[in-house]
Amino acid sequence: MPNPTHIQGVAIAALADQFGTPLYIYDGEKITNQVKILQQAFSAVPLKIKYATKALSNINILKLIRKAGAGVDAVSIEEVKLCMLAGYSAREIMYTPSGVGFDEIKEAVELGIMINLDSLPLMEEFGKTYGNAIPSCIRINPHIMAGGNFKISVGHKESKFGISIEQLPEILELVKKYKLKIEGLHIHTGSDILDAEVFLKGGNVLFEAALQFPDLKFLDFGGGFKVAYKPNDIATDVMEVGKKVGEAFQDFCSNYGRQLELWLEPGKFLVSEAGYLLVKANVVKETPSVTFVGVDSGLNHLIRPMMYDAYHSVYNLSNPEGKKNKYNVVGYICETDTIASHRELTEVKAGDLLVIKNAGAYGYSMASNYNSRLRPAEVLIWEGRALLIRKRENFEDLIRNQEILDF
Ligand SMILES: *Cc1c(COP(=O)(O)O)cnc(C)c1O
Repeated sequence: MPNPTHIQGVAIAALADQFGTPLYIYDGEKITNQVKILQQAFSAVPLKIKYATKALSNINILKLIRKAGAGVDAVSIEEVKLCMLAGYSAREIMYTPSGVGFDEIKEAVELGIMINLDSLPLMEEFGKTYGNAIPSCIRINPHIMAGGNFKISVGHKESKFGISIEQLPEILELVKKYKLKIEGLHIHTGSDILDAEVFLKGGNVLFEAALQFPDLKFLDFGGGFKVAYKPNDIATDVMEVGKKVGEAFQDFCSNYGRQLELWLEPGKFLVSEAGYLLVKANVVKETPSVTFVGVDSGLNHLIRPMMYDAYHSVYNLSNPEGKKNKYNVVGYICETDTIASHRELTEVKAGDLLVIKNAGAYGYSMASNYNSRLRPAEVLIWEGRALLIRKRENFEDLIRNQEILDF
């Protein structure tokens, strides 16, 4: 994985001058290429990509992904509305809630959005309210432990997500009771899943359950493709997954008696590598044991290292050829806030620009105002031009909703 100085011919350092730091930068070409790669990998089946909006939800990114031919999966009513604002039609959006209130479900149904039912009580309420009038999908928990880290494993037996596959009889009872029109079955086992075997295992759970649902139009395999974060990291071989899962899927369809659509919900895979968080070194602090580089960002802007022990490559854009030293790259937040530990970087001086890679997915979308810090600007590189797609926050933004009382 190269350490770019330019994205589509645009110098990253010039972006720091133009927009300031910290700055989120997205390579739009990379995003649309990733969509193409998935489309190719699954070209043997009728594929629908439903981008997991939560990974990176800037409206312009959503628009770009739509132009590339994908739909979306939303996990909140607000994401549903963002997607509609970005131009997605109701039928291009799937809403996969997780224990939300029924008001929100109703609101989504009124907007014409398909709901991915994630609990027996929700199925009951949905059935009571809509009967067979509104088609829906069911999120199955397949009881598969997979994913890069326990926090991002969501398909195992004790996970809160979906309806346990062991409760299939109860599911079927509710379907019968309310004549529910189930058009899709869904699983999502977690994030950073490497092996085609895990997708196949999930697929087999879906295939077996699916035979009990006569109205299906699609099976949704969720997201979770692993991307390379470290040098020499292996990423999911999507060509292999596409081939193996595609074949198994086609076999299933002939067994089922009808050609269904295969849905995927990639988040990370589409946007992770396309994103860079550009920061500036405020201070280089030597201690008897460690040399710290303190940068003008932190877990308020990129929480993955602290939240998931995630590894993000970092490089010194300002001194690419210098001699190497070991550093701990840390944020400016009053909290242990390590972005990279014991990392070899070319010598860093205060004022140098550092680039944090793989910052596209779950970067800005998980950013906060912790420590009353402002969120960065976002820039999209598209057709060789740098486009501001979100302004940097200012102090006004921070106090906008606070009622300042006369004490
Ligand atoms: C988060 C999520 C995804 C995307 O996961 P990635 O690891 O980013 O691919 C897909 N489907 C659902 C339901 C999700 O919650």
